[in-house]
Amino acid sequence: MDSSSVIRKTAADLRLSPNLADYAGERRAFAWDRARAELIGLPGGGLNIAHEAVERHANGPLRDKTAFRFLARGIPARDVSFGELSRLASRFANVLRQLGIGKGERVFVLAGRIPELYIAVLGSLKNGSVVSPLFSAFGPEPVATRVNLGAGRVLVTTDRLYERKVASLRDKMPTLEHVLLVAEDGGSTNIPGTLDLAALMAEASEVCEVEPTGAEDMSLLHFTSGTTGTPKGAVHVHGAVVTHYATGRYALDLHADDIYWCTADPGWVTGTSYGIIAPLLHGVTSIIDREEFDAERWYGILQDEAVTVWYTAPTAIRMLMKAGAEIPRKYRFPSLRFIASVGEPLNPEAVRWGRDVLGLPIHDNWWQTETGGIMIANTPAFDIKPGSMGRPLPGIDAAIMRHREDGTVTVIDEPDVEGELALKRGWPSMFRGYLNNEERYRKCFAGEWYLTGDLAKRDADGYFWFIGRTDDVIKSAGHLIGPFEVESALMEHPAVAEAGVIGKPDPVVGEVVKAFVSLKQGFVESEALRMELLGHARKRLGAAVAPKEIAFLPSLPRTRSGKIMRRLLKARELGLPEGDLSTLEGGG
Ligand code: AMP
Repeated sequence: MDSSSVIRKTAADLRLSPNLADYAGERRAFAWDRARAELIGLPGGGLNIAHEAVERHANGPLRDKTAFRFLARGIPARDVSFGELSRLASRFANVLRQLGIGKGERVFVLAGRIPELYIAVLGSLKNGSVVSPLFSAFGPEPVATRVNLGAGRVLVTTDRLYERKVASLRDKMPTLEHVLLVAEDGGSTNIPGTLDLAALMAEASEVCEVEPTGAEDMSLLHFTSGTTGTPKGAVHVHGAVVTHYATGRYALDLHADDIYWCTADPGWVTGTSYGIIAPLLHGVTSIIDREEFDAERWYGILQDEAVTVWYTAPTAIRMLMKAGAEIPRKYRFPSLRFIASVGEPLNPEAVRWGRDVLGLPIHDNWWQTETGGIMIANTPAFDIKPGSMGRPLPGIDAAIMRHREDGTVTVIDEPDVEGELALKRGWPSMFRGYLNNEERYRKCFAGEWYLTGDLAKRDADGYFWFIGRTDDVIKSAGHLIGPFEVESALMEHPAVAEAGVIGKPDPVVGEVVKAFVSLKQGFVESEALRMELLGHARKRLGAAVAPKEIAFLPSLPRTRSGKIMRRLLKARELGLPEGDLSTLEGGG
């Protein structure tokens, strides 16, 4: 790349002394054991995420400091201090205890960004239970699939979401014993087969000992998608908190006085690791906005809440860019001092747009559900090369791997060569398994290396550049979508014989989900049927996962072994070369 396009940092960009100033020195000196020593641990020697994130501050000088400031349209902001958060999380943990839900048992949360979601996550962790936040835009099928895979015993949701997304499949979730409801109008609920969370919380004690969990005890379960089969439940442990702490320091540059806003929903891993845990660990005040994207609102929040550190995503940045330059001119951002982005490739224009419009460049960083925390980042310590994901953080070794024909994998030493991005195992937040799928987990490793499924290259300065995925998963608005889940829902429609789903490039959301279907005998393609299929998929899968486009084909290309060739569908859609067709059924 042209070196003139590198964004050189000046002292004015940093405003205060960054946590990571000497990249090479810090990498040399870093050891995970020492990072662990910065946390307090449980009295008996264990480790618990909620204890580090909340209890530590609730029992110290930050007791009355605001931990979360919850914003929602039409109602006043609600500030919750570290002390209050601790008491509320204790009440929730006691609710679980009274229901007989203990260590290692699974609690699911399906809610928008309401205070109860955050309380349930922290209370579950305090109780030693395993928590899995689900995205509230999921439809009934993705919810039921995940609750069943995770053997959920408890689901916390709202009365409206329950009626729309859970009730119809409740009898298909045999492990689910307790549904705890939050009334969206703030009152109480009495839907048969459910419990009113507010009433249980009011009766529960606000005193509760943290369950003595160890660093290897399971804490969070996050579902992620692959090319085939059901979603995979990535198992995380309490020890991950060491990574959350270290990366909050290095990649987000969190300082005690920051006002921090992570725009990610906790239904996706960023919204949990960095929307809940990391800022609390650093004793930082977080802004949580319940509303969906709105350019005016977002600029308003950055200004009015005096946000200092902002962690967001490329789709949101592109939507701000699209909304035009007039809106931000009405706002001022004197407090803002650091911006980071994650989840999908960040275009070089977006990095520069940050500097022009917000006065700061945007620091792209990379990680995934399986890594549990940020691995590669543009940090305050070095210049930004727009379009690059940055360099591995202290404690992280990354490499580009070549897959040999004999099935072995080797590190590519030369720069600028494309291969699979890999990380040397051993960082604390590395996932410990895919739930009930040991074989799939084992396949992610080659000796000491974890293979990420991403294609990338490393340049001579050690910066990593994202190229694409090695599989067929789709990234739409930052959300990973498994084509199989979408195809399965389409196949349930009586008219559909086969379905193949691809990600179609989109200038704003990265990729949109596009489905190709062939129809069963007796059905004829029509606009009405297309609309019906779109509606069918949306009802089952929810807006976040459902296809935005559906096209009819007489039949779908398949390999000789019967697999739908999504790559070929994609190449044809984009007018690209069709590549090797030797495995195509009837082709070759
Ligand atoms: P998820 O597990 O849902 O967080 O998705 C992880 C995937 O998102 C990665 O494996 C990448 O394919 C993609 N991704 C995350 N961060 C970036 C980034 N900074 N640039 C490009 N792709 C990214």
